[in-house]
Amino acid sequence: MQYRSTRGESPAVSFSGALLAGLAPDGGLYVPAEWPRLTPADFSACATLAEVARTLIAPFAAGDALEDAIGDITADACNIPVPLVPVPGAGYSVLELFHGPTAAFKDFGARFLAASLARLRPPGARPLEILVATSGDTGGAVAAAFHRRPGIRVAVLYPKGLVSPAQEQQLTCWGGNVQSFSVRGSFDDCQRLVKAAFVDPDLRERFDLSSANSINLGRLLPQAAYHAATALAVWRETGRAPSFVIPSGNLGNALACLWARHVGLPIGAIVLAHNANRAVPDHLSGKPWQPRRSIATLASAMDVGDPSNMERLQALYPAFPALQAAVTAEVVDDGAIRRRIAADHAAYGSIWCPHTATAAEVMARMPAARKAQGPWVIVATAHPAKFREIVEPLIGRAVPVPESLARLHELPSASQPLEPRLEALRAAL
Ligand SMILES: *Cc1c(COP(=O)(O)O)cnc(C)c1O
Repeated sequence: MQYRSTRGESPAVSFSGALLAGLAPDGGLYVPAEWPRLTPADFSACATLAEVARTLIAPFAAGDALEDAIGDITADACNIPVPLVPVPGAGYSVLELFHGPTAAFKDFGARFLAASLARLRPPGARPLEILVATSGDTGGAVAAAFHRRPGIRVAVLYPKGLVSPAQEQQLTCWGGNVQSFSVRGSFDDCQRLVKAAFVDPDLRERFDLSSANSINLGRLLPQAAYHAATALAVWRETGRAPSFVIPSGNLGNALACLWARHVGLPIGAIVLAHNANRAVPDHLSGKPWQPRRSIATLASAMDVGDPSNMERLQALYPAFPALQAAVTAEVVDDGAIRRRIAADHAAYGSIWCPHTATAAEVMARMPAARKAQGPWVIVATAHPAKFREIVEPLIGRAVPVPESLARLHELPSASQPLEPRLEALRAAL
């Protein structure tokens, strides 16, 4: 299986080539040159998420150096429960993707990528240095996933004072092969430093550099697996293909679900729930594609004005009418997020994180006739305990903290202050 760039100006690469490169040299994103075709019957022997992931991902790695390791990699990355929890009275179920080490869905992709890259290191190679600029969630998931992987080091750069206390703890509690830098500057300064490091001759001579960023193919495929496993479970139980509502920002999770449906999984409608960053909903409603500057909202992990995965979406559906038929999107502003968190806690006892609340709001607005076409699944992208400052005043009680998060919060934390200059980063690595 070969991968081509969405911009068509770079040569096709292998599966592991795409994982190692992240972004294609022409600035595009890697997509499969041809699509595997699967049917529910291909998964009849799969009982666990890891087994579904193996069956789904193996054809994507056909002929690759990692082909024989896909079973071990998926077992490693997908060893996280993904319960589908009905919300009695609400008319839908919740796919909880927050039972991993950092309590958000990004754990799956980060762990798959870590398990893959660890296996691609030649014996005796120089250390692989993963550089991540983070505004919050990604850095923690990547640090957790790469922690203690031999031959790999991680440097996490975050803007000092601009991440929540819980997020900072998840960025700084690892030690060992994970270095955390609190950068005196903004998220954009962190990202600029990482980009400068990639083209710096001194650093390139000392390390193999990689980015583990969210557009890496290795982060999408395991996300396709949990949509597939959920769809198969519902299909087996009810004979119907579930429809999904997905809180979306950079469109990684959404693309993963679309890819799962595209290769043949029984998935009905796919609805994207966006916060006030409305570039995608505006486009799908018929306006020309127009990236925006991002605006800050309560669902901060979805504050993306120019989603990079839009290129993959357009590659999958080059004709606009096909795109509009494939997926729809809605805007949920901060006021609606707040009201939905309070209302659903009162009505069902559910506690949503601000991201998940956008999907719950889409369900609450849905006309009954459309709802009846379900079964509907909303995707819970993070545990509400990660966003206690927002959620607790709205529901008037404490959010129970899951054990895995509580454990992280007890670890000692350490970070190095860093000036936002390349010389400073060079000296610190
Ligand atoms: C990253 C993230 C999102 C957005 O996901 P995309 O794949 O970027 O669309 C939504 N919710 C949470 C909690 C996240 O961390």
